[in-house]
Amino acid sequence: MSARLIDGNALARSIRDDVARRVAALAARPACAGGPVVPGLAVVLVGEDAASAVYVRNKVKDCGEVGIASTLDRLPADTSEATLLARIAELNADTKVHGILVQLPLPQHIDAHRVIEAISPAKDADGFHVGNVGQLVVGRPLFRPCTPYGVMRMLEHAGTRLDGAEAVVIGRSNIVGKPQALMLLAAGATVTICHSRTKDLAAHTRRADVLVAAVGRPNLVTADMVKPGATVIDVGMNRGADGKLCGDVDFAGVREVAGAITPVPGGVGPMTRAMLLVNTLEAAERSAG
Ligand code: NAD
Repeated sequence: MSARLIDGNALARSIRDDVARRVAALAARPACAGGPVVPGLAVVLVGEDAASAVYVRNKVKDCGEVGIASTLDRLPADTSEATLLARIAELNADTKVHGILVQLPLPQHIDAHRVIEAISPAKDADGFHVGNVGQLVVGRPLFRPCTPYGVMRMLEHAGTRLDGAEAVVIGRSNIVGKPQALMLLAAGATVTICHSRTKDLAAHTRRADVLVAAVGRPNLVTADMVKPGATVIDVGMNRGADGKLCGDVDFAGVREVAGAITPVPGGVGPMTRAMLLVNTLEAAERSAG
């Protein structure tokens, strides 16, 4: 039997529509309630990385479509760390800016950790600041990293029961695997994190009611590794041998075993983009009281 498809494009569209409605409500706020507010996102790109340039262009375009004001700082690859930190300090102080995003990776001579920590935790639209990671750990999240946040929305939309479920996350990065595991834990799942040093990956994945793959290796997850009826979320973004975009999951094989599955493309990717808009809007709503 073929698994139900969790359509990231359709869900992201409905999230963007909801963001647009809430942005319009903020913009129409009467003077007696504090006056109009336009949510603002500041995007900073350092260097000429082609993939990063596409990502930031998409982020700016997404903002425009829902009424969020965005700015894009394109700084040369030889920008000093001090110059970047000074720019972040200006954005932290700018009341029109509710979210700040510094596109990663940064050039080698810049300490990415120091840059992320320089962003005000109240404007950290990516949710990477240790303050926001800590909030997530203690179960009081402020900004959640966009990719795992989007995955949680997909699971909710798919009606996947998390309370008491066995969840297995493959990957332990700070931007996907670890925050994903924390969010699943907060939702009541029993969580296992697998990674490059895990022995017998399949023994873990076969127990999973919910399986999230976030590695970056095509066909890492095959049908024999999946529990019948499981929900399988494919975060991976890879180029297959044919040059086409693919995930970490052998989609054709796994869809015959799983109960629900996300495609690549059209799965987690559009949700990541949509959740950045949600984070920016919610920051503006918080600052507007
Ligand atoms: P990363 O390289 O930081 O982390 C990869 C993780 O995979 C590591 O924790 C590593 O331990 C683990 N790993 C490597 N080989 C493994 C193996 N054989 N078995 C089990 N675990 C193994 O990558 P990341 O930034 O977390 O991204 C992971 C993937 O998700 C990439 O393909 C990336 O492009 C994609 N991604 C997609 C989106 C999206 O919006 N769809 C967003 C972020 C990342």
